[in-house]
Amino acid sequence: MSSEVTVTLNGEARVVPVGTTVRDVLNGIPSRDLVAARVDGKVVDLTRKLEHDAAVEPVIADSPEGLEVIRHSTAHLMAMAVQSLYPGTQVTIGPVIEDGFFYDFAPPAPFTVEDLPKIEAKMRELAKADHKIQRTEVAREDAIRKFTAMGEKYKVEIIQGIADDQVSIYSQGDWMDLCRGPHVPSTRYLKAFKLTSVAGAYWRGDEHNAMLSRIYGTAFASKEALEEHLKLVELARARDHRKLGREMGLYIFDPISPGAPFYLPKGVIIFNALIDYMRRLYRRYGYDEVVTPLLFKNELFNTSGHWENFRENMFLSPDPDSDTHTIDTGPDGWRHGYGLKPMNCPGHTFVYRAEKRSYRDLPLRFAEFSRLHRAERSGTLHGLMRVRELSQDDAHIFCREDQIEDEIARNLQMVRDVYGALGFERVEFKLATMPEQHLGTEEQWQMSEAKLGNAMKRNEIAFEINPKEGAFYGPKIEIYVSDALKRKWQVATIQLDYNAPERFDLTYTNRAGAEERPVMIHRAILGSFERFIGVLIEHTGGVLPLWLAPEQVRVLSLSEKVEAYAEEVAGVLKREGFRAHADIRNEKLGFKVREAELAKVPYMIVVGEREAADRSVSVRLLRGAKSNAMPLAALVEELKKEPVPA
Ligand SMILES: [Zn+2]
Ligand SMILES: [Zn+2]
Repeated sequence: MSSEVTVTLNGEARVVPVGTTVRDVLNGIPSRDLVAARVDGKVVDLTRKLEHDAAVEPVIADSPEGLEVIRHSTAHLMAMAVQSLYPGTQVTIGPVIEDGFFYDFAPPAPFTVEDLPKIEAKMRELAKADHKIQRTEVAREDAIRKFTAMGEKYKVEIIQGIADDQVSIYSQGDWMDLCRGPHVPSTRYLKAFKLTSVAGAYWRGDEHNAMLSRIYGTAFASKEALEEHLKLVELARARDHRKLGREMGLYIFDPISPGAPFYLPKGVIIFNALIDYMRRLYRRYGYDEVVTPLLFKNELFNTSGHWENFRENMFLSPDPDSDTHTIDTGPDGWRHGYGLKPMNCPGHTFVYRAEKRSYRDLPLRFAEFSRLHRAERSGTLHGLMRVRELSQDDAHIFCREDQIEDEIARNLQMVRDVYGALGFERVEFKLATMPEQHLGTEEQWQMSEAKLGNAMKRNEIAFEINPKEGAFYGPKIEIYVSDALKRKWQVATIQLDYNAPERFDLTYTNRAGAEERPVMIHRAILGSFERFIGVLIEHTGGVLPLWLAPEQVRVLSLSEKVEAYAEEVAGVLKREGFRAHADIRNEKLGFKVREAELAKVPYMIVVGEREAADRSVSVRLLRGAKSNAMPLAALVEELKKEPVPA
């Protein structure tokens, strides 16, 4: 066996003795930034010894992999602190999750949030003590003996479920855990963490098992990054669309119809303003609006493929004409009952087929705002973000093969118009390609993927590839926006579909007089209005642009003497087309202002005797605290200048 190995680092190969640690290979990088390494693509400890030729790359603290190592190591640190503070507590599992980690414990008494500061203090003490973190490989049987002796029956159960002969154990100080790793080299690396909450959790997620005590926490590469994250979490809590929706009087939810919003009058104003805006765009971009049924014979869904692929997510109904009023959810159930549509696409093929189409008629662009129903599991429902009943700015374009790129380009332009107008500065694009399970040949897929890619390039749109994430019938462009809380939402999609025209036997007469298949493009720009409104409320904190604000102006009277003038001001504004109303209740001004702020009214107009005498108003903006006196006519002009997207 050779006593040397070849290491490739930054594209350069060099020879080092067998057994050199990856840390020694990476010794040029400041040690506080370096938390682990990637060896031939796999993330490992810095203490890992090189036995074979390998490509080595550093894993830096604030990279996604680096954060994962830090968070997992912090979960260990927490378990060490917990076991030293609460003797008799058994450990179970402690994985990394999005933005943090948790660890499930079996303590003598369940933890409460009051325990967290004490645990955190102990963690800081143990981190400072700079305990080296060491990996050892032991025989499976030895590990079982070890953990049995320690009284860690959950760990023993885990090891018994592992098929390998060898298992790895990580130790720090006198504490150890069965673990695959990798970990940071010592506890000193962990300096920016926070324990956030506690919860009950069943062992292995099974309600028949013992209830464990779960502690959640988060950790970052630096204190600054941790603070920034905690601030955003706080802001997200304050901006929760369910809370703001109630305070602003927009919508409610009730167990009488789980997952379906009840829009209150003010919520409907936002809903309709968005639809009006899309309708203006539709006129400009050449769309025709259609309305198709909500309820169809399941035969439709059998033809479209939804019966096969989506019926678990559909609300089904018996056929009122049949003798047996039962719902058949089996594979052949489509022969009997009805279903509420989960998507508009199958219905739109009937609109296409309503007339004989020629190549000159194409493209045809059919848009629909109908309600859609999807039988989401009750446990997954979440305010407006995940619902059972929704509307989309949904449209289907039927076009010729040679029109695809143009149509995609027009839609990309529309996406930019919409997200620019709605104040989302960061829009990202991905091209989702052929999934394992797909219809059509590989050549077809390559061609369609190239078409979508070219359209993005033509529009100077940079995009990433999202491999194997296309729909089973065709590739798609996925469009993501980042909100003010730095969260990413997939909102819009543009999908290419050769399958539906085939299944529904759609044709047009080409130039030569022969029948050809059109191509179908599915696309939505806001996506579901429900989800979009939820995102918008959290993005803006409820401070909507004037054209979307349910109540645009509230006139606040200072005293009974100016009631008439307050009503008059509100009346003038209403006649000018604004959503205004006067608050003439006999309450203190401070109280009225606070209520208007809570309702997120962009313009608060204060009127007192002075204003009534010279027919002026005192304007107080939701966005800026200073008030500003001006003639009533000047206010009307200012309101008219507020932007409305065309
Ligand atoms: Zn671990
Ligand atoms: Zn569709």
